Amino acid sequence: AELKTDVAKNVRNFADFPKKGILFRDIMPLIQNSKLLNELCHAIANHVKEDLGGAVDAVAGLEARGFLFGPSVAILLDVPFIPIRKLGKLPGKTIKATYVKEYGEDIVEIQADALQPGARVLIVDDLLATGGTMHAAIDLIEGAGGKVAEAFVLIELADLKGRDCLPQHVQLFSLISYA
Ligand code: 5GP
Repeated sequence: AELKTDVAKNVRNFADFPKKGILFRDIMPLIQNSKLLNELCHAIANHVKEDLGGAVDAVAGLEARGFLFGPSVAILLDVPFIPIRKLGKLPGKTIKATYVKEYGEDIVEIQADALQPGARVLIVDDLLATGGTMHAAIDLIEGAGGKVAEAFVLIELADLKGRDCLPQHVQLFSLISYA
């Protein structure tokens, strides 16, 4: 409970970013608070060990802000970090997933050989809004032969009901939820 309060205090709100009418939640103060970030990553790793019914085989993070704490969690769990990136950034054979954004579509990719068959994967991102990005990430993990142990976000924008658009068989965990 104390961790949640400290994390919430280290998220800044920016009105009208990246465009008018959007209240942007900026997690950089949290990322730059080394003591709190350390505590947070240990808490996520402990949550995985205690609440997910067994070890995970990998942590997958979404570009770009999932890259800021996902690798640290992966180190604590002693498992590989798998990047999920925007189209065209990853070399070799990739698997793609398309999702709808406010204006048009976006594509994310994972390297096709990133996972062992049946690997249990924790997916991490900073924030869940409409859920489109996380849905695409789930499709990629499953497309690459893995199983999603949990979809983890620091912040859930509950009003947007992104949670309800994710596949029913996947568990979403959010540390903090904003209306
Ligand atoms: P969704 O696909 O759920 O609508 O949007 C979530 C994605 O957009 C996440 O990858 C997240 O990083 C980014 N995002 C959307 N809004 C915000 C915000 O207010 N703050 C931050 N930090 N990321 C956001």
